[in-house]
Amino acid sequence: MLPVASVKARTSPSSAGPAKRARPAAEKSVVQMVSVAELPTRSGTFRAVAFAPDALGNEHLAIVRGQVRGVRGVALRIHSECLTGDVLGSLRCDCRDQLHASLEALGQMSSGVLLYMRQEGRGIGLTNKIRAYALQDRGHDTVEANHLLGFGDDERDYAVAADMLRALGVHSVQLMTNNPRKIAGLREHDIEVVGRTPVVTPVNRFNAGYLLAKQKRSGHWLSIHELVQPASQPAAGTDAAGEGEPQRVSAAQGG
Ligand SMILES: [Zn+2]
Repeated sequence: MLPVASVKARTSPSSAGPAKRARPAAEKSVVQMVSVAELPTRSGTFRAVAFAPDALGNEHLAIVRGQVRGVRGVALRIHSECLTGDVLGSLRCDCRDQLHASLEALGQMSSGVLLYMRQEGRGIGLTNKIRAYALQDRGHDTVEANHLLGFGDDERDYAVAADMLRALGVHSVQLMTNNPRKIAGLREHDIEVVGRTPVVTPVNRFNAGYLLAKQKRSGHWLSIHELVQPASQPAAGTDAAGEGEPQRVSAAQGG
């Protein structure tokens, strides 16, 4: 086991970080644990672990169940904040479904972690995400839209997530994901990924195009077929049929 990053709660913000021992670059601390509190949820009881803002000013949160320190193959979901999906229930993406499916699954386990990363829009920010949606309404897919705005299709960096895990004493995970980049990203930052658990969410006519693009263009392990006709333009004036009509398509490949 790697030594656990020394992270102490602090009560006042300080621009000068704590004196650090020389550590390998991969272990350099970029986030600091600040406070822990119990968090009962609809999916079970967790601990909310708050971290000080990272270099970009984002305040990330770890939702921890049970004892995870030093455990091998801790169940882990890394979730990127999605205001429109997580909070507003947007059907343009699968974020809310993935978040709730993950919390439900973790709530059934004796231990596990969900990292809630405040990196809206896969790292491009809320305003740019809405600009990307506007481009998608004109017929571009999610990847093209990001490129037109001058971003990659996924701007996320897993250094902060890996550092949060180290702060929690987690060095080895079983990752709940369909995204191969998350596995590579964690491994790049010295977190052992012992396996993957697919996250299966429903497909609806509003998110089918987005999911197809994630599958075809970003290499996500999904099996979205032409069972659902993507709506290139969310039709104004129709009722938000998505909730009623989603067709449960297995969005996960076995392996
Ligand atoms: Zn989303």
